Amino acid sequence: MAQTFDRHRRLRKSAAMRNLVRENHVRVEDLIYPLFVVEGTGIKNEIPSMPGVYQLSLDTLAEELKEIVALGIQAVLMFGVPTHKDACGTEAYNDDAITQQAMRLIKEAHPEMIVIADTCLCEYTDHGHCGVIHEGEVVNDETLKLLGQTAVSQAKAGADIIAPSNMMDGFVIAIREALDEAGFEHIPIMSYAVKYASAFYGPFRDAAGSTPQFGDRKSYQMDAANAREGLREAASDVKEGADFLIVKPGLAFMDMVLRLRENFNLPIVAYNVSAEYSMVKAAALNGWIDEERIVMETLVGFKRAGADMIITYHAKDVAKWLAR
Ligand SMILES: [Zn+2]
Repeated sequence: MAQTFDRHRRLRKSAAMRNLVRENHVRVEDLIYPLFVVEGTGIKNEIPSMPGVYQLSLDTLAEELKEIVALGIQAVLMFGVPTHKDACGTEAYNDDAITQQAMRLIKEAHPEMIVIADTCLCEYTDHGHCGVIHEGEVVNDETLKLLGQTAVSQAKAGADIIAPSNMMDGFVIAIREALDEAGFEHIPIMSYAVKYASAFYGPFRDAAGSTPQFGDRKSYQMDAANAREGLREAASDVKEGADFLIVKPGLAFMDMVLRLRENFNLPIVAYNVSAEYSMVKAAALNGWIDEERIVMETLVGFKRAGADMIITYHAKDVAKWLAR
């Protein structure tokens, strides 16, 4: 009988055959684990909307790091949650602030760990916005100067990568110039190039204490409906000297990971954000889903879309599963 159709199932016949033809893999080296540091001692506060994720003081951070290193995770993304907040977010660029102390601690204990500094002001401002406010507006250019100062302070504290997230226009070049002037021309910039104003950040704001006290972030973060605008944002960051491009959030914006992959040759990072984590955890705690399979399918989806690495709160679980 003449064959009139394709036999795709030949390559799915056994586990070994499927292993042989598998196109994408999640590796522990792909994972970046976010950490939230607070002032004080003996603090390990679980974030209610993010089971398994904690705000840590320096001493408990040291314990957490031992576990992270033992699991083979080699990169962390640092968020500081200071006690003192003010209109200009001065703790962001204070060399002795909690975030800088945490970065020094990590680099002293684990010099090989890649420390990525989230560079924004919203965890440090009393109004919770990502920049300086004039007459109810977040002002772009004045904020850029503070971002440059923040990046330099973070690099001095040992940050290996600067990751600006506040979506001011020109933030990559402003930070690049500030870093270069301070002698940090070797420090790369991982830009939150394509960042949407998203409801998927809700649980993170509990973790980072960064909920805006008025209004929203829609005048600087992108409209979820726009894809071409995301390509313009990414093109600007590439031109300004970005070394990595982040897409945030990840799951509902996987098309943007693919579009960036097709248009740029820089490493691409997918941010599997807080609510994506919380939804999985909530369903898993109810026994409604197979957590491991759901998480691994999501992460390999990011790889298939073209991401080189993934920022994820699931990193510790994934590292354990991969090690089995
Ligand atoms: Zn921010």
